[in-house]
Amino acid sequence: MKKLLLDYEICNRCPACVVRCSYDFHPANNGIFSLREEIALTLTCRRCENNPCVQACPNQALQRLEGRIRRSLVMCVSCKSCSLACPFGTILPDLVPYLASRCDLCQGPRLEEKRRFVCVESCPYGALRLVEEKTLEGMKNLYPVNETLVVKAINWLDLYGVKK
Ligand code: SF4
Ligand code: SF4
Repeated sequence: MKKLLLDYEICNRCPACVVRCSYDFHPANNGIFSLREEIALTLTCRRCENNPCVQACPNQALQRLEGRIRRSLVMCVSCKSCSLACPFGTILPDLVPYLASRCDLCQGPRLEEKRRFVCVESCPYGALRLVEEKTLEGMKNLYPVNETLVVKAINWLDLYGVKK
């Protein structure tokens, strides 16, 4: 079975994302941004004790729930105050856009009909790849997100033994 592999170390260094998305119901949607936010808040966030990002938000859009920072898409106004406040560069400015995006991993007929991921084809840096499951064997820093998506990223929590 093939998996969608997102290499966050490549993705995070990209100067300007040019990846396209085939999500049909919202023309401005680009699912890669929601995936990147998810990865950043799960694997890159250092879980600061005083949560400067939460404190900087003028709209109470950020909360720490079960150890992890969550952003309310309804309450966020994309002011980027959290981005400025984060001492680790976890919340890059483009991860908190005014228009929210969602990735549905091309589930259902879209993938069955086209048999391809538009994001994989449009990333010129190889940050997204469709790979056979056995290709992933022995690869380090892999984190399965669900049945389709696998992320390759440094897990800062594990690296520094931070409690989740
Ligand atoms: S960008 Fe959104 S989450 Fe961040 S501080 Fe502004 S309103 Fe809060
Ligand atoms: S300030 Fe940055 S590293 Fe600290 S909790 Fe918020 S997002 Fe995580």
